[in-house]
Amino acid sequence: MDTKITLTEKEMPTAWYNIQADLPEPMPPLLHPGTKEPTRLPPPLFADELNTQEFSTERYIDIPEEIQEIYKLWRPTPLYRAYRLEKALDTPANIYYKYEGVSPAGSHKLNTATAQAYYNKKEGIKRLATETGAGQWGSALALGCQFFGLELKVYMVKISYEQKPYRRIMMETWGANCVASPSEDTEIGRKILKEDPECTGSLGMAISEAIEDAFSRDDTHYALGSVVNHVLLHQTVIGQEAMKQVEKADAYPDIIIGCIGGGSNFAGVYLPFVKDKISGKKPNLQIINVEPEACPTVTKGPYTWDYGDVAGMAPICLMNTLGHTFVPPPVHAGGLRYHGMAPIICHLHKLGFVEARAVYQIPTFEAAIQFARTEGIIPAPEPAHAIKVMIDEALKCKESGEKKNILLALSGHGHFDLGSYEKYLSGELEDYEYPKEKVEEALKHLPQVPA
Ligand SMILES: *Cc1c(COP(=O)(O)O)cnc(C)c1O
Repeated sequence: MDTKITLTEKEMPTAWYNIQADLPEPMPPLLHPGTKEPTRLPPPLFADELNTQEFSTERYIDIPEEIQEIYKLWRPTPLYRAYRLEKALDTPANIYYKYEGVSPAGSHKLNTATAQAYYNKKEGIKRLATETGAGQWGSALALGCQFFGLELKVYMVKISYEQKPYRRIMMETWGANCVASPSEDTEIGRKILKEDPECTGSLGMAISEAIEDAFSRDDTHYALGSVVNHVLLHQTVIGQEAMKQVEKADAYPDIIIGCIGGGSNFAGVYLPFVKDKISGKKPNLQIINVEPEACPTVTKGPYTWDYGDVAGMAPICLMNTLGHTFVPPPVHAGGLRYHGMAPIICHLHKLGFVEARAVYQIPTFEAAIQFARTEGIIPAPEPAHAIKVMIDEALKCKESGEKKNILLALSGHGHFDLGSYEKYLSGELEDYEYPKEKVEEALKHLPQVPA
């Protein structure tokens, strides 16, 4: 049996799969933050084609050839059979993982960064502005923009800018202009710095700076790395490839497991499979969304209307949320600290097609180390959360003797997160309890939306 199940370039998908064509109930609308009426994404900030994709109900949307050509630099990505981990766990389960860490940026985020840069370029935009926390999204978009000759300005949360210089250097290597946020380059940044010159920044502030930048210039748009429908759409190249690969291995999954921050990598893997569950072809398929116990959006947050951003300027959407003003504890999986979740995932969760589980970060790193020592790949802290649940499920199979097929979404490598590994290895990592009071406080600030 093969350890690596590969595809040829000819077997790559030529269209993105749009789940909106197959939902038993349509997606709820986005609401304008001011009028509370149904709205599109703000047109001054997004390319028309991306706005069209956001609400499209076409089942397949062709991937332009220019994008397919670029995808070939790292796609199709490999599907691995985790023989060595299975042996270590002494489980009868067959474990497979789809690995996106082979992209030049080290994660799945380049799949949408490339597409977004392409459409903006095509519509005459010269420059993009975005925010980044630890730098995964900023670095992916820096390369995406470089592919199509767009300028990029990245507002990077100051504390990360200072403590994690390597992602910044990656962005600069790929030609982006990266500043620490709050910065002197925007009105909102100057205002924050005037009040607090030592401010270390937050994702919310960086978003406000990037949006102000994009609003203030005709040649500039804004770009989002997760959550919204068009980003999940672009990520379905992963799941469509995985579908072909599990067919080759004759191993259609019984369980699919992945981590959710905004939800894009995991939805990208499972949306083509959830189609089989919705249609009744695979009624028993189990899909487990994994999140940190410190930011348990789907497992503990109510399904309600909330702003997409911390500042309350973005459209309001129906999703599971911990409240847009909630600032989660500093878990090392920076990509899993968003207050809300992709509306598509929340919709599927409400309809009962997918489930969610939350895990603590110490057992997560324990699982990551076991994975690294058997399979070799050092996972990013985000997908390590899914590895923890995958190991739990494989051990359940050991007890029951069931020979389940498990598919894991491995969204990226952890080469820029070795500082977190160092903390774990030296016993300094701590677990954060679910911050119940802070969430209750944040939930008092939900927008009032008429029924
Ligand atoms: C950003 C990131 C995530 C979380 O974002 P999603 O949109 O939920 O995928 C997960 N894994 C990696 C490696 C990331 O960089």
